[in-house]
Amino acid sequence: MSFLSMREVHKSFAGNEVLKGVSLEMERGQVVCVIGPSGSGKSTFLRCINRLETIDAGLIAIEGDPIGAEVRGGRLHAAPDKKIRAQREQIGMVFQSFNLFPHMTVLENIIEAPIGVRGEKKADAVAHALQLLARVGLAEKRDAYPKQLSGGQQQRVAIARALAMRPKLLLFDEPTSALDPEMVGEVLGVMRDLAAEHTTMIVVTHEMGFAREVADRLIFMDGGHIVEDGDPREIMANPQHPRTRAFLESVL
Ligand code: ADP
Ligand code: MG
Repeated sequence: MSFLSMREVHKSFAGNEVLKGVSLEMERGQVVCVIGPSGSGKSTFLRCINRLETIDAGLIAIEGDPIGAEVRGGRLHAAPDKKIRAQREQIGMVFQSFNLFPHMTVLENIIEAPIGVRGEKKADAVAHALQLLARVGLAEKRDAYPKQLSGGQQQRVAIARALAMRPKLLLFDEPTSALDPEMVGEVLGVMRDLAAEHTTMIVVTHEMGFAREVADRLIFMDGGHIVEDGDPREIMANPQHPRTRAFLESVL
């Protein structure tokens, strides 16, 4: 059984079909990068996995457990909210726009969900948060507020905040696209460390160097389809589909 299984996933917004039958099997510990033109469905693909969006047809399962659904009497039914919340807690997401709580310090941002959602004791949540802050190189910023930090530092806090929930899967949606160029490297560096520790992650990115060096697997999406899926170096050197070739020529 795969860690993540997607079968023929369809998603439309008001009649506009954005995912047109997406299928994917992914193993634990894999790092998958997703590239593709704007509007090709990359964010929707991620948002369906952590159920920020519901799907119209198909199936998404983590370790065999269908997302947002459960099997009763041999058939799939919508899962109760409690189950959906529990599943979502296992999936961390890092957005382009950081989304830290502005009125909370760095430490408060990180311990909020572990205490409020997971029910961790404050002392445990703080100890874990400090470990994570050290891991992203920001131990000395624990009492700073987000607006006192650079974009790169805020994004590293957002990664620590996602990790604080001890997710099984981390999703990144263009985590460096909103950053000034000089800050991209520090965020990619943290993501590189996570990959080296075999964190299971799916990264939508335009950073082709990162995709080539860090990803176990590269997916090219276009028009709501996975057009190409394979070894990053192989795809970049020798794209099989004309649309992949055209996209790579535009970004490389
Ligand atoms: P990408 O991340 O590859 O740029 P998206 O998944 O964000 O693509 O969007 C794919 C298409 O779906 C776009 O045409 C976008 O306008 C549309 N779309 C995405 N989210 C919504 C939404 N909540 N409501 C309506 N249309 C949406
Ligand atoms: Mg997007």
